[in-house]
Amino acid sequence: MNTWNIDRATRRLFRHQVCPGLLIGLLILCGGVPLAAQSEPEKKRVVCSTTQIADFARQVMGDQWQVDCVLAAGQDPHTYQTTTADARLVAKADLCLENGWHLEGNEWMRKLAENAGCPVVTCIRGIEPLEIDEEGQTVYDPHAWFRPDNAAQYVRNILQAAIQIDPENQWQYQARAECYLLELGALHRWIQRAVNRIPLARRKLITNHDAFGYFCAAYQFEAITPVGWSTRDEIGGGGTIQRQREVLEAIRSSGVPAIFVETSINPRMMKQLADEAGVVIGGSLYSDSMGAEGTAGATYIGMMRENVLMIVGGLAKDRS
Ligand SMILES: [Zn+2]
Repeated sequence: MNTWNIDRATRRLFRHQVCPGLLIGLLILCGGVPLAAQSEPEKKRVVCSTTQIADFARQVMGDQWQVDCVLAAGQDPHTYQTTTADARLVAKADLCLENGWHLEGNEWMRKLAENAGCPVVTCIRGIEPLEIDEEGQTVYDPHAWFRPDNAAQYVRNILQAAIQIDPENQWQYQARAECYLLELGALHRWIQRAVNRIPLARRKLITNHDAFGYFCAAYQFEAITPVGWSTRDEIGGGGTIQRQREVLEAIRSSGVPAIFVETSINPRMMKQLADEAGVVIGGSLYSDSMGAEGTAGATYIGMMRENVLMIVGGLAKDRS
C-alpha cells in the first residue's frame, strides 16, 4: 500500500466514522443546540400593537430587545381580529405596548396581554387629548402620534417601561431616547416650514377617517372626513350617507384641488367622492399604519415626511 492509498483510506475513515461521531458528541454536549446560538444572551421581548409603536420601541431599545409587532404594514387596528399566533407571541413577551383610547378595537392588545399575564403599557398616557363628538358622546381621539410632540410622549412612556424592566441598561435606553427626541423636534420644525407652501385658506385635509385631527390642529389644517374616528363606522354604514353628502358639499365649497386616501383603508369611497366633486386624489397617506419594510414610509419619521410631501404636493397648487 503506497502513501497515497493510506491517506485515502484514513480520509475515508475520518469522513464516514470520526466526523459524524465528533458532531454527535458535540450535539450531545450542547444539549442539541449549536454552540454559536448557546453563547448569545437571551434578549428581552416586547410585543407592540401598531407599526408606529414598534418603531418607537426599536428607537429606545435598539438591538438589546426583540421587538415584534402584531399588526403588519397596511393593517387596520380598529377592525383587527387577533390570532392564535398573536397569543403565542405575547406568551413569550416581557412587555406589551398598546396605543390606547380604543384605537385597538375591543381592546384587543390589552386582552392579549392580560390573557398571557404580561405587563401592558399604554403609550398614549400623559398626552393632551383631542375630544371628538360621537353620537352625542365625547370620546378621546386615539390618533395622537400625528403630532411629533405627542410621539415624543410615546417614546418617554416606552423609555420608562424599558428602564423599569431592565434598570441595568438604563443609560443606553436614555441615550437612544435622547437622540430620537432630537430627531422628532427637527421633524416638527421641518413640517412647519414645508406646510407654509400651502396658503392657510386651502389647508383643508380631506381623508377617509378622522386620523389626522392632531396633525391638523398642530399645523393649522381643517380636517374633513366622511367617516368618524374609527374605520368601523365605514363598515356599519349607519348615518354615513348623510355624512358623505355633507363631505361632498364641503369638498365642492372648500376650493381644495385634491383629497386623499389612506394606505390602510379601501380607497373606493374617496375615489367616488373625488369623481363627484371634480377633484383629484392627491395620493395615499399613511394613517393608522406605516409603510412596508423597504419603503420610504417604513419608519415614523419617513411616514410623516412622505405624508407631508404628498399633502403639500396636492394642496399647494390651485385647482386646475
Ligand atoms: Zn384610525
